[in-house]
Amino acid sequence: MAFKLPDLPYDFDALQPHIDKRTMKIHHDKHHAGYTNKLNAAIEGTDLAKKSIEDILKKVSKHGAAVRNNGGGYYNHALFWRVMSPNGGGEPSTKSKLGRAMTKAFGDFETFKAKFSAAAGTRFGSGWAWLCVNRAGNLFVTSTPNQDNPLMDVAEKKGTPILGLDVWEHAYYLKYQNRRPDYVAAFFNVINWDEVSKRYNAATR
Ligand code: MN
Repeated sequence: MAFKLPDLPYDFDALQPHIDKRTMKIHHDKHHAGYTNKLNAAIEGTDLAKKSIEDILKKVSKHGAAVRNNGGGYYNHALFWRVMSPNGGGEPSTKSKLGRAMTKAFGDFETFKAKFSAAAGTRFGSGWAWLCVNRAGNLFVTSTPNQDNPLMDVAEKKGTPILGLDVWEHAYYLKYQNRRPDYVAAFFNVINWDEVSKRYNAATR
């Protein structure tokens, strides 16, 4: 098996009341496990089995739909679990490297929050909202359909994702039903800005 389903870095109920235990359990144990298993089945016996997920996604247009959908699903959820925490919320220090980059890109945190929330809210159907770093080290907000992400060569806007929000209905329907904006607002209470900062620093090293 090339890729392994990562454990959650906290308990299934740790993000309550913002994200409920049942959603987290089904989302991780069924959905993320499914993407992982199907990715492994799609690359078994091919030279992709020896590559990193990032390398696979950067040339995903060369591969079939199973690699695009399940490789994206594998990567996106692994990032998603890490950028949330029961101790999350708030905002990055404006003195940190990430905080300075956010000020440069968006002016202030509330403007970033409005842009990110709009990207999540207006993504039609299933997909993801992202905060990304481009090659110049500048931040931008974007969204992608299905399990695509900005690492992929097929993405409209390419960059390194450092924060992602799953807006598939499976991510919120049990608790929020059709109220996606409430789920997006609740996500801001669990964002692990220390982890996002680490990812920004790694992407701009
Ligand atoms: Mn999902």
